[in-house]
Amino acid sequence: MDTHISDSSLRALLAAQRAAHAQHTPDYAQRVDDLQRLRAAFKARFDDLATAMSADFGHRSRHESQLADEMTVLHAIDHARSHLKRWMKPKRMLADWQFWPATCEIRYQPLGVVGVIAPWNYPVNLALIPLVEALAAGNHVMLKPSEHTPRTSAALAELLASVFPQERVATVLGGPEVGATFTTLPFDHLFFTGSTAIGRKVAMAAAPNLTPVTLELGGKSPAIVAPGYPLATAAARIAAGKLLNAGQTCIAPDYVLLPTAAREGFVRALRGYVQQHYPALRDTPDYTSIVSERQYARLKNLVDDARAKGATVVTLPGEDAHDPARRVFAPTLLLDVDDGMAVMQDEIFGPILPLVGYGAIEEAVAYVNRHPRPLALYHFDHDRARTERVLDQTLAGGVSVNDAVLHIVQSKLPFGGVGPSGMGHYHGHAGFLTFSKQKPVFRQARFSSLALLRPPYGAFAERMLKFLTR
Ligand code: NAD
Repeated sequence: MDTHISDSSLRALLAAQRAAHAQHTPDYAQRVDDLQRLRAAFKARFDDLATAMSADFGHRSRHESQLADEMTVLHAIDHARSHLKRWMKPKRMLADWQFWPATCEIRYQPLGVVGVIAPWNYPVNLALIPLVEALAAGNHVMLKPSEHTPRTSAALAELLASVFPQERVATVLGGPEVGATFTTLPFDHLFFTGSTAIGRKVAMAAAPNLTPVTLELGGKSPAIVAPGYPLATAAARIAAGKLLNAGQTCIAPDYVLLPTAAREGFVRALRGYVQQHYPALRDTPDYTSIVSERQYARLKNLVDDARAKGATVVTLPGEDAHDPARRVFAPTLLLDVDDGMAVMQDEIFGPILPLVGYGAIEEAVAYVNRHPRPLALYHFDHDRARTERVLDQTLAGGVSVNDAVLHIVQSKLPFGGVGPSGMGHYHGHAGFLTFSKQKPVFRQARFSSLALLRPPYGAFAERMLKFLTR
């Protein structure tokens, strides 16, 4: 629901944030204090946030909320706190030798006011991690969380208002209309997480202001299982990544490429995984519901379309596992798929897993490269040389080898898409850099060697230039 905050109130909010930032740019002590107070309030209120998320989804696994939304945010805060001093320190270096004894340095300065727009699927993580990194870099922040998780967004607004004044961190509630207005504000940086289609609109709205954008988008992330890789291990790791949040994860394995002959064994292994980990799928608190009727219907349509066009549908653990009333969408495998089916064209964003057979690994690589550059790629292989080849021959936002999803939770790895899956990076130091101006400074010495190279150019200049351009 749009709360119809007007364009003029949004602009007034931005002006107040910008004035406050100009008056007092957060120094190291202030930033550490901000992060500490946010951490304490976040920990104290996380139960309320988890309850809100579960109510918004219909049901959301509390353990998964803790893993994906609590632990990750606490990690981001702690990592920033412990590295911030080093990140902020100007980096000094010698100038290029021709300019000695001059020196150079890079200083890291906050950009000013950063706008953050978040989606619904990890509504706490994807709102707070960019916010934490923007604050660590010394910015003020305006956050627009998703309208599809309204209780969580309201709880986030309360949490942030309990820690920060409006002119430092403000939460703007509302849907696409508010989002569209928000993106026309002349922010110093705009950080958007969401779909590729809306990402395009965000880039266009930011262009007239030349507001730099980071776009964290979606797409179809393939998992490749190489010949000879243990199927039970691949199936368990792919299923764990896929069924987290019931597949409503930007980097969930979207489909699996595997040797055609391995298909039956892989289906058996996936069935075994689901039976073991979700023995009573309809009743377990560990399996998350689909966020809305609209999303549930979208997933059902993907399966119906694939079935009508000749796919074989395998519902796990069995046909009666769906519970539409509670929006429990059972893990669903699709065999015999082709590119004419909607499920092989659009990002799935739910617990549907198409299996695509290949003959030689080159076919799998060619399949990936025929499609838009994905946000993530997973390769399961114990052959190092072949793994290197696959890594060299494909381009993706990020990669986990022999597992799924886990590259996103490494604080030393930058996270971000490429091409239609996004632009720019964050997480850890990469986030600090995204939200900072890396300001280069050249410092001339008392004696400048360049004084020797001024007109009128004579024989000395000739000799010098001959040497410098040798
Ligand atoms: P979405 O693009 O529909 O919405 C995201 C946000 O944009 C919401 O806050 C929404 O209100 C706002 N919005 C809607 N219209 C807007 C407009 N015209 N201008 C500005 N803002 C607008 O995405 P969603 O359905 O909430 O999330 C699912 C998508 O997000 C999937 O494609 C998924 O892959 C992607 N995603 C990416 C990442 C990542 O890190 N790369 C993480 C999570 C989700």
